[in-house]
Amino acid sequence: MPNFIDVILPIPLEKLFTYSITEAEANFLKPGMRVSVPFGKSKIYTAIVHSVHNIAPVVYEAKDIHQILDETPVVMQTQLQHWHWISRYYMCSVGEVMRAALPSAFLLESETIITKNKDRVVNDEDLKDDEFLVYEALHHQSSLKIQDLMSILDKKNVLPVIKRLLEKNAITVEEEIYEKYKPKLVRYVKLHSSFSSEKALQNLLEELGRARKQKEVVLALFSISAQTKKPVKVSDLTNQSGASSTIVKALIDKDILEEYFIQTDRVQYEGEENESSKQLNEHQEKALEQIEQSFQSQNITLLHGVTSSGKTEIYVKLIEEVLKQNKQVLYLLPEIALTTQLVNRLQNYFGEQVSVFHSKYSVNERVEVWNNMLDNSPKAQVILGARSSVLLPFHNLGLIIVDEEHEQSYKQFDPAPRYHARDTAIVLANMFKAKTLLGSATPSLESYYNAMQNKYGFVELNQRYNNVMMPDVELIDIKDKHKRKRMNGHFSDRMIEEMTETLEEGHQIILFQNRRGFSPIVECNTCGHSPQCPNCDVSLTFHQYKNELRCHYCGYHMAMQQQCQACGSVEIDSKGFGTEQVEEEVKALFPNHKVARMDLDTTRGKYGYEKIITALEQQEIDILVGTQMLTKGLDFRNVKLVGIMNADNMLNFPDFRAHERSFQLMLQVAGRAGRTDKRGKVLIQTYNPYHRILQQVSTNNYVEMFNEQMNDRHNYKYPPLYRLIKITLKHRDFNKVNFAADWYTKSLRQVFRDNVLGPEFPPVSRIRNLYHKNILVKIPPKQSLSKTKEAIIKINNSFQSVKDFRPVRVVLNVDNY
Ligand code: ADP
Ligand code: ZN
Ligand code: ZN
Repeated sequence: MPNFIDVILPIPLEKLFTYSITEAEANFLKPGMRVSVPFGKSKIYTAIVHSVHNIAPVVYEAKDIHQILDETPVVMQTQLQHWHWISRYYMCSVGEVMRAALPSAFLLESETIITKNKDRVVNDEDLKDDEFLVYEALHHQSSLKIQDLMSILDKKNVLPVIKRLLEKNAITVEEEIYEKYKPKLVRYVKLHSSFSSEKALQNLLEELGRARKQKEVVLALFSISAQTKKPVKVSDLTNQSGASSTIVKALIDKDILEEYFIQTDRVQYEGEENESSKQLNEHQEKALEQIEQSFQSQNITLLHGVTSSGKTEIYVKLIEEVLKQNKQVLYLLPEIALTTQLVNRLQNYFGEQVSVFHSKYSVNERVEVWNNMLDNSPKAQVILGARSSVLLPFHNLGLIIVDEEHEQSYKQFDPAPRYHARDTAIVLANMFKAKTLLGSATPSLESYYNAMQNKYGFVELNQRYNNVMMPDVELIDIKDKHKRKRMNGHFSDRMIEEMTETLEEGHQIILFQNRRGFSPIVECNTCGHSPQCPNCDVSLTFHQYKNELRCHYCGYHMAMQQQCQACGSVEIDSKGFGTEQVEEEVKALFPNHKVARMDLDTTRGKYGYEKIITALEQQEIDILVGTQMLTKGLDFRNVKLVGIMNADNMLNFPDFRAHERSFQLMLQVAGRAGRTDKRGKVLIQTYNPYHRILQQVSTNNYVEMFNEQMNDRHNYKYPPLYRLIKITLKHRDFNKVNFAADWYTKSLRQVFRDNVLGPEFPPVSRIRNLYHKNILVKIPPKQSLSKTKEAIIKINNSFQSVKDFRPVRVVLNVDNY
């Protein structure tokens, strides 16, 4: 009897593909193992075995596989089931899910690029002949495609060689540049060595006699080091002596103190004694009981707890319970909120049982987590991870926590699978009969709605931990301030007043501006021309730091122009403003204070993000200017004032969720203010202080926001009542996109009538030389989701069968919000 396997290929291919295998291979292979297979004329892929059987394919002759790559499965049955669900629900191929799930080192294929591992010297004797040939070739050429290796080795079957070389750490698979978790750099000071003798010290203190403040700092340094017998942090010194960092800096400049940095590696768990979890206060205790009670009857529960109410400590208690039952926990966080602050906190409680899965980790680290999970190692009991960790091989999940469940970044937009990690997690939990806890201070409308409909359990926590008061929110009417000439650049007099006071009290400030770059758009004052990206239909934005104009969509850039390209005028002006401009203005307003900026530009480099967070934590920064990056779960004790520079550009964003998102964003930023004893203050500058959302932010009225927004969603037929599928067509030829989109829309209308919107060009309709056109399908509450998708797939198939339309790219995006 002939033997076959069906495999999943990591490509957008709808069907599984069948290959021929020998009897012996059939006895050995199990679903979830990898095989290398030929595909098309010359391609090689790593494929995952889906099933072993005896039925020959009808329409093509099955090719032989090249090689079996594993002894045991690397993908579990439950994962395969889960992948299939994702593929059906999000209308993509299982292969696309596979590509998103597997670490790239598992996915060798003809296009994979390999390079020599520079961190390691391999002895030639340790390599087999074929391995040596490859290794040798990499001495002459820094990188090779696997396709090249086929000619070097003169055979098609090269993946096993690569696999062995990878296992010997001789080579690495090229990938985007990932950074390791970064060491935390903390600033310390000591007395300069020239004062180490008793006498020199006496002289110094006498000399400083008149500079009272400086003398106090030196004395404080003494007493701290005498007490702790450890190096002294700058932050401890300023706290203890009550001196500002300016005075410390003066002492450093005078060579009296010496500064140095110590790396405290924040992620490597040092194997210290585990801390026991914190005793919950009465409110937390009550919430915990309610969650447990709710889990008796509900699989999913929403915890609506205000910022700083101590949600994390409640999660910790739940995790303890689940670990006691020998079950695993998945703790999901948005990528950017996955800070070392939190990793540390959890490792303190759960030690080695915590594994972190993060896109910033190297391939090797991710492979390690994957393998630990496959083995159900004690090291992989609490998985702390971002979006893609829902795709990992779990053995016996007991609980999934989705923290900051409202976060937009849980949804993957590009490439496929365009999945939402929260919703995908809920499905994963169901497969294991596990519970899911969604947590947020500002839940998404859909989750809150589900809770109100009793589809989810619901628990509230309205008290901040330690009864810290919610910050005091004040709206500032900048239209009026402009009229009365009370503005200094983008700062109102109120903002400057409060900032001055906060700084005098020795507290820190966060300023939020929802845009990066200096002043995004450059415009000619004479003719109104503004430089455009040649590839995308969008204005270039000005980046002062490099003095260049950049496209935020495709990365095109050119030097800042001195003259208008259209009319030659030299009067070029900038419109709007970004974080960089705010930073500049703050520096001018408060020249004696340390100002820093946190946005995509400043955090891109090595250690960028961690450095800024650490500096703020250590109170080395007085004023931090940033974008939404600031909103994510950070806990800074000394920040007392939060300023939102301009609320209007969020509120006016052309999207049906703009109001909901603005509310969430502003409350989350506000939540950074006054996390300890002092009441925090939030100032919001706006042209429109009577806007409902701003009123709701200032009174922290989630319920009113929810009701009003739901009313709008009802009237305009938007989620969570209706559901959406967005279909985007892309092609370089404008007319072709138009024609194709009209055809597509017409076909959809025949089925869905008025519930089809578009076709529409998006605000930016040309990206990387491709024109985009969108069609939106709205799905009424009672209409079957799966039937809707079936109908769309049918239309899509007829569309693809028209020869003229074939080159048009179609992107299906389910729940595109
Ligand atoms: P949330 O996640 O709701 O924003 P956190 O869990 O981060 O709040 O708690 C805010 C702060 O209060 C943290 O510094 C945390 O350590 C502290 N905290 C919360 N609960 C307790 C507790 N029961 N005992 C001691 N400290 C707590
Ligand atoms: Zn561009
Ligand atoms: Zn001009």
